[in-house]
Amino acid sequence: WKHAPRDFRALLETSRFHGDKVFLTYEDEHITYEEHFRRAATLARRLVDEYGVAKGDRVAIAMRNYPEWVISFSAALAAGAVAVPLNAWWTPQELEYGLSDSGAKVVIADGERAAKLTGADAALIVTRGEVPAGARSFTDVLGEVEAGVTLPPVELSPEDPATIFYTSGTTGLPKGALGSHRNVGQSPMTVAYSMLRGTVRAGKDPAETAGQRRVTLLTVPLFHVTGCFAVMITTMFVGGGLVLMYKWDPGRALELIEREKITGLTGVPTNVWQLLSHPDLDKHDVSSLTALSYGGAPAPPKLLEHITERLPSRAPTNGYGMTETTALAINNSGADYYAKPDSIGLPMPVVDVKIADPLGRELPVGEVGELCLRGPNVILGYWNRPEATAETFVDGWLHTGDLARVDEEGFVFIVDRAKDMVIRGGENVYCAEVEAALFEHPAVDDAAVIGIPHDELGEEVGAVVRLSSPASPEELQAFLRERIAAFKVPVRFWVRETELPRNPGGKILKTHLRREVLGS
Ligand code: ATP
Ligand code: MG
Repeated sequence: WKHAPRDFRALLETSRFHGDKVFLTYEDEHITYEEHFRRAATLARRLVDEYGVAKGDRVAIAMRNYPEWVISFSAALAAGAVAVPLNAWWTPQELEYGLSDSGAKVVIADGERAAKLTGADAALIVTRGEVPAGARSFTDVLGEVEAGVTLPPVELSPEDPATIFYTSGTTGLPKGALGSHRNVGQSPMTVAYSMLRGTVRAGKDPAETAGQRRVTLLTVPLFHVTGCFAVMITTMFVGGGLVLMYKWDPGRALELIEREKITGLTGVPTNVWQLLSHPDLDKHDVSSLTALSYGGAPAPPKLLEHITERLPSRAPTNGYGMTETTALAINNSGADYYAKPDSIGLPMPVVDVKIADPLGRELPVGEVGELCLRGPNVILGYWNRPEATAETFVDGWLHTGDLARVDEEGFVFIVDRAKDMVIRGGENVYCAEVEAALFEHPAVDDAAVIGIPHDELGEEVGAVVRLSSPASPEELQAFLRERIAAFKVPVRFWVRETELPRNPGGKILKTHLRREVLGS
């Protein structure tokens, strides 16, 4: 490194030094760092020359985790455009919303998504599937890829916009989070630091692993910040290998871990949980896998026990981040994590933390308030939403909407999402606390606590559970009464036979659940 990457172009140019090392693996396809650079640089030139993409124009990406996702992302940023990753699970209407909200000039889509984009104004480039009339294929646009290709000339400054990622839409309509080149550039350094700290805190000598090639299995979508920054961009930064999957499948993941000698897996807690619970776990050689990281959604404390039992001596890490913090902001790993399994850990070195009262004033250690964050990973604001931006970004602080407390040693504990909290007769009931207590019961496989409207109390506490063996509501209530105050114990239980509905970020869709069980 000549210098730390202040913009994505610096990161991409440096990645070329990794040359013949394989960067992307998808099924039987392998793309080296040199090939990735050449294709990205060529596509960037085509976007500029043939599509008239100028600095600041939006280029949307709508596809599954194919290698072309990564090439398109790299090309868009290298051309000075703003990449707009769209959620591949979205319906045609939602995709249309993403395209018109961002005002995309070009959209690069896979065949499945292209079929849903017929009415789009943006120019369409299609890979892996049928090319509708008026669109062009990815291969055709790329044309001949020359060995000597260089990036198109664009002047970038670290404050220039680089990405619009849509938030998960857990608490409302997804908002476009406008990230800068500085946000992108700092992300792999933050994650690399956390990996180093994870190794040290797991009692290992970083020197022993220094020469080993990192091969990471991508278990989450690239259109969310965890997949893109914590995994893909960080892999590019350290010159590691990235193994892509068409879709998350724990059985297939086990095969890939063995075949590709995966050293690390990053995903949401559900991915890790499903992998560890898979009946074929013992049939595969997973000895290469040394690091397990997850985040993006609350990790049940039981997960740590599960890891210790099923895959001992791995280094588990729980990371907290938001779309608005370009992925990782706070994390807990190794010995710290075992000592405080219910904490999300310590802030990354670039991040300032404040626990604030409703007026934004800092609260003393131990008190519960809104978690506010500041640092070079915090985005510029929301795209086209001045009001939401003014509400969320106040005096340089990002108001996360999460309720948290910090202990004497600076460890952060998420108490609940402010919008999730149930207020029962004026008493706050934090769903996350009740869920954690429920998880301790051996029969409970999954749980979501929700508020039930109540005339007198405002709200009552209810729970939707998925059980591995029978347990009556009375038994669960008695179990909970030994662990949490009586007013927090759910008065009503719904048993669900199938998995609880989750979004690709691993978060339970509570609005969906509430509608399902309460009809409202
Ligand atoms: P929207 O903002 O559209 O409602 P969202 O907040 O779910 O959706 P994301 O940016 O994907 O969108 O998620 C960030 C949120 O995820 C955080 O505010 C926090 O509530 C939760 N979260 C992330 N990591 C963790 C973690 N390790 N533990 C607990 N909660 C987490
Ligand atoms: Mg949010």
